[in-house]
Amino acid sequence: MNVLVVNAGSSSLKYQLFDTNTDTVVAKGICERIGIDGSAIEHKQLLKGLKIEEKRAMKNHAEAMSIVVEKLLDSTYGCISSMDEIEAVGHRVVHGGAYFSESMLLSDDVLAKLRLCHDFAPLHTPAHIQGIEGCLAVMPEKPQVLVFDTAFHQTMKPEAFTYALPYELYRDYGVRRYGAHGTSHRFVAGEMLKILGRTEGTKIVTCHIGNGSSVSAVKDGKVMDTSMGFTPLAGVEMGTRCGDIDPAIVPFMMEKLNLTPAEASDLMNKKSGFLGVTGGYSSDSRDLEKAVAEGPANPHYEQANLAINILKLQLKKLIGAYAAEMNGLDAIVFTAGIGENNARLREIVCEDMSYFGIEIDKELNAKMVRQPNIVKLSTDASKVAVYLIPTNEELLIARDTEALVNAAK
Ligand code: ADP
Repeated sequence: MNVLVVNAGSSSLKYQLFDTNTDTVVAKGICERIGIDGSAIEHKQLLKGLKIEEKRAMKNHAEAMSIVVEKLLDSTYGCISSMDEIEAVGHRVVHGGAYFSESMLLSDDVLAKLRLCHDFAPLHTPAHIQGIEGCLAVMPEKPQVLVFDTAFHQTMKPEAFTYALPYELYRDYGVRRYGAHGTSHRFVAGEMLKILGRTEGTKIVTCHIGNGSSVSAVKDGKVMDTSMGFTPLAGVEMGTRCGDIDPAIVPFMMEKLNLTPAEASDLMNKKSGFLGVTGGYSSDSRDLEKAVAEGPANPHYEQANLAINILKLQLKKLIGAYAAEMNGLDAIVFTAGIGENNARLREIVCEDMSYFGIEIDKELNAKMVRQPNIVKLSTDASKVAVYLIPTNEELLIARDTEALVNAAK
């Protein structure tokens, strides 16, 4: 089945056309600066290895969608000769609140519930709705499926998702842990379960470490706990996000720095993490690693080393905490930009974990950068399997879309 996977952001729309029979991406691209001056599309036809970049006016996501369709049908850069060749559209949705614990076929009721998620993801939800409405405008007859980044985490028990705040905040405003990156955690956990050859009794920690990062405890194939919370600001240190801090710091710094709530949020979301700890040097782990590798001669060495070590310690703590929560640990999975490519971080996280019986092949691990395959990093003597599993959220979205569309036939 050909499935168009759409990831609509506030001013962008990424897309991939998947052939689910072969699990291959036929075409992909991105529309940027939607609704802003200078909007453009970058489209790649992967079968022919062609790429085109074009400045095009796009007032909204519906206009962007019609340009995407034009490119997919283009006689040179396209890959289909008629819209009949696309059977369905799968949308990535960042937040499904407590309404959605699995992917859903679009209906009026589903769209109404998605609108209710607005406050949980105020930047993303309107963009998703525009993306969906754009598809409805351009291809009204195609079934659409919504795949929620929060859905996989809906198996958490109340003691894992409830904050120790006055209960009305949960009851009246939905303040609770929702988690994020669920589609990625589900994809890599699913691959890990295939390797383990069973689901019942399995205990996996999945580490999605990228610009945004989260860690999940997956027991029996279901999320038991996860590090992101009410919003994707919680959990471990990220590129520009602070992760977990003492909540009393928020009013303290607002008073000391004379910040509004929006400014405090901006500081914690955009000026913290690697960027904040390195005094504005960089939010990209590659830059930090370069400074660490160059040693004290590099002016950013000390802070870059500190920033990486903060993340290392937080990851170790979460692995320990989740092993305690699950009463054991069969596997640790590293994924996303840093998890897949920063070999040194993987090594220092797994170092000195012999209490848990974790041992990785350091030489093999050091070589595993920018490669597309699943790799076993642990030694045969290791009691815990450690794997690098490249994430593929789009593939999972395409698969869910195909399954739901087939089930509805
Ligand atoms: P996002 O959360 O935005 O999807 P990614 O998963 O792409 O982010 O992760 C971005 C991070 O991955 C950056 O910190 C970057 O340094 C790191 N990264 C990407 N490629 C490499 C690489 N080849 N080597 C080391 N780190 C990498």
